[in-house]
Amino acid sequence: MQLANNYATLPPRFFARIDPSALSAPRLLKLNDGLARDLGLDPDWLAGPEGVAMLAGSAFPAGVTPIATAYAGHQFGQFVPVLGDGRALLLGDGVDVHGRPYEIQLKGSGPTPFSRRGDGRAALGPVLREYLVSEAMAALGVPTTRTLAAVATGETVARDTLKPGAVLARVASSHIRVGSFQYFAARKDEEGLRALADFAIVRHYPDLVGQQDRYLAFFDAVVSAQAALIARWMSLGFIHGVMNTDNMTVSGETIDYGPCAFLDEYNPSKVFSSIDRGGRYAYANQPHIAMWNLARLAETLMPLIDADPQAAVNRLEPVLMAFRERYEQAADVLMHRKLGLETDEPDDRRLISDWLDLLQAASADFTWSFRRLADPEPDFPELDGFAAWRARWQARLASEGCAPPDARVKMRRVNPAVIPRNHRIEAVIEAAEKGDFGPFEALLAAVTAPFADNPDYERPPLVAERVRATFCGT
Ligand code: AMP
Ligand code: MG
Repeated sequence: MQLANNYATLPPRFFARIDPSALSAPRLLKLNDGLARDLGLDPDWLAGPEGVAMLAGSAFPAGVTPIATAYAGHQFGQFVPVLGDGRALLLGDGVDVHGRPYEIQLKGSGPTPFSRRGDGRAALGPVLREYLVSEAMAALGVPTTRTLAAVATGETVARDTLKPGAVLARVASSHIRVGSFQYFAARKDEEGLRALADFAIVRHYPDLVGQQDRYLAFFDAVVSAQAALIARWMSLGFIHGVMNTDNMTVSGETIDYGPCAFLDEYNPSKVFSSIDRGGRYAYANQPHIAMWNLARLAETLMPLIDADPQAAVNRLEPVLMAFRERYEQAADVLMHRKLGLETDEPDDRRLISDWLDLLQAASADFTWSFRRLADPEPDFPELDGFAAWRARWQARLASEGCAPPDARVKMRRVNPAVIPRNHRIEAVIEAAEKGDFGPFEALLAAVTAPFADNPDYERPPLVAERVRATFCGT
């Protein structure tokens, strides 16, 4: 096994080298065979003793030299100048069978110089949650980190109670965050900033290499990628839960699945995370927070744009401001598709917002309602005013020459039947903590085929089953 570690070619202040934390009996819980093959890795080797030891962070083969990376970040609006990989390590990187670069990172593999007071470990529950949600997001077509494997450490970790420990192996095109830039900006380390920006450009936006205005173009590309990403989240009712700047990538991939959750009943001010008391990361706030985070990125890039701060601001600001329009445009296109519409008419905003108002007033399930909308006899809880709205919507479809059965075919391709619902995830975790992984396997199979009818998994939770809060579980 040989993995390059390109990030380790950056100056030593970017990272710390990490030794393995030996475990007596790590055990493979799940390997993502298909992903392993896509990455050009041998699933049989990964599932063997050396592979499992590597995936657990317990022993590394010669040719794999892991590091923990340094970053900073705004957490709930407060700037923390040193965060870094406190319970993660970057095993290395490679190029997949499609020619795309990737990195493999372990999460929960033991302490690093960035662990602060943390134990560097992860509990089984959050590892399985990240596995399920990241693989569901990939199947839904959302840019995201992927999960390569989950390994049981055989040890317990102290959380609210003692929990079984686990390690997640995740894959990303890179793990560079807004907070990675903030780390160097906070130190006024312009050389470090430039090296990081050049590295990120080569990795993610190679067309910009050598271009004269490449740092501004890089920012522009990140703004676009994030606008597209957040629009996808919103169209699926996904709530990230901890959109701190250290949890936002410059690649535009979703990263760090903590207290994330999908909406059940539609409510724009919905918050799940138990630590998000002010609702900073509420569902409807996500586009605003994304823009706030991008403003923090813009600040870090100023010295690379122009030696004169005002001149730098003058160039960065319009690019930042373009976020709003790009986001709205992307969200609008997705919402049209969810309603089976292909063209754009001035009255469509009203049609869409009236539909969402109906869902909110009836506390109707977001995913279920969109999925059922095109059915010949939609099975909804009572939606007051639905018949009148439906007549408007069908007239609008007819104006495009689209018959209801054709709309249904289109809508079923974009409105999932199955999402990783919170109550299902919690049931999976409870069973897994008792040693039964059957429910995990079954839910994983369901959420990775999200557009197929699946009567067992598409039903929304009963009111009594609704999960009201999620926990970071770190
Ligand atoms: P998160 O909220 O998971 O994005 O993590 C924020 C920061 O806390 C990162 O620097 C993590 O590496 C660190 N962290 C979270 N949990 C732990 C843990 N159990 N041990 C050490 N560091 C942790
Ligand atoms: Mg994080």
